[in-house]
Amino acid sequence: MPAGGQAVRVLTPVRFDTRLVHSGWDTRTGTGDVVAPVHVAVTYDRFAEDPPRYFYARGENPTREALEACLAALEDAEFALAFASGQAAGAAVLSLLGPGDRVVASDDVYGGTHALFEIWRRYGVVVSQADLADPRAAERALSPRPALVWVETPTNPLMKISDIAGLRALAGSVTIVVDNTFASPALQRPIAEGADISLYSTTKFVAGHSDVIGGALVLDDPDVYQRLAAHRTVTGAVPGAFDCFLVHRGVQTLSVRIARQVANARALAAALESSPLVGAVHYPGLPSHPGHEVAARQMTEPGAMLSFTYRGDVEKLLASTRLFTAAVSLGGVRSFIECPALMSHRPIPRDVRLSAGLTDDLIRVSAGLEDPADLVEDLCAALERGRS
Ligand SMILES: *Cc1c(COP(=O)(O)O)cnc(C)c1O
Repeated sequence: MPAGGQAVRVLTPVRFDTRLVHSGWDTRTGTGDVVAPVHVAVTYDRFAEDPPRYFYARGENPTREALEACLAALEDAEFALAFASGQAAGAAVLSLLGPGDRVVASDDVYGGTHALFEIWRRYGVVVSQADLADPRAAERALSPRPALVWVETPTNPLMKISDIAGLRALAGSVTIVVDNTFASPALQRPIAEGADISLYSTTKFVAGHSDVIGGALVLDDPDVYQRLAAHRTVTGAVPGAFDCFLVHRGVQTLSVRIARQVANARALAAALESSPLVGAVHYPGLPSHPGHEVAARQMTEPGAMLSFTYRGDVEKLLASTRLFTAAVSLGGVRSFIECPALMSHRPIPRDVRLSAGLTDDLIRVSAGLEDPADLVEDLCAALERGRS
């Protein structure tokens, strides 16, 4: 009898929410476990199976395979690779490039992505950034054709929306990677929109409980998959079995979590838009958002992240909310609030930050699972207390 069942793709054409729960693990094998077991062994008996499937856990691990089967199924893709972090997944993508290759990336990308680009610049890769949410700027940036297009949509923290299908039309056969961390596969499926690789920090919405760091790549191309898998094995960028278990446990509730988080973000965006203490509100669900129409077409819901400019004392605001934890990261069950200038984007030089629109009065919110009325009351009260 196999030790503990098998990682499987659900092959019957079931819908997304059913795949969340049923993909990745076949209960009708082995001991019948209803949860994929946590396989902690680092190495495997050469004669357990003939031919052997497992050699060494840096290369192969059954708990990881169960998670990967699930993540691939969520995007109807052939392959998924789980990584130790979102950053490790991003580094694997950049490992596809060599000296002289050119990357065109969204101008408003995750801070850690900027840091990865800096390392690859030292390796001779040319990285240029452009506002890929603006079709004309995107067209200029993609001529001549680069080796890789790196898209983040929605972006962090301004929630800019890039049209993935539109970029595919502009980019021809150039590899497009979409950092889908902010939307999650529940709200946006980059592969179906024409991207080659979906990148995730599973730390955020996918795992969803702020208790595990993880990353993933999802893709269809077998050759690219082999190269990325080899990179992961050689560099050891693998997640441990317990971390895979946590991500897999978390992802099964993604749809129900994100439905509440989106509802809460909508309620907060509406309250912020009507507050005299607030300037701009950046939320793709608002008709005033420049990416509203593309988001309505490309995403099933406008997401659980929003940002706004505050007309009061930022530090006082952060200190006086009771229900919003002042913390970086996002996508967990608790609501988070942060000021990019003071926290998530602090390492970026101030002039670069300001020219990207990240002003000192910008506040970012990740809506959690609390009652929306409590969140609205708490944030409005904190806005008042920080009034300067
Ligand atoms: C957090 C994050 C990453 C990096 O992921 P880690 O799991 O922290 O390594 C990449 N992209 C985006 C958009 C993120 O929010």
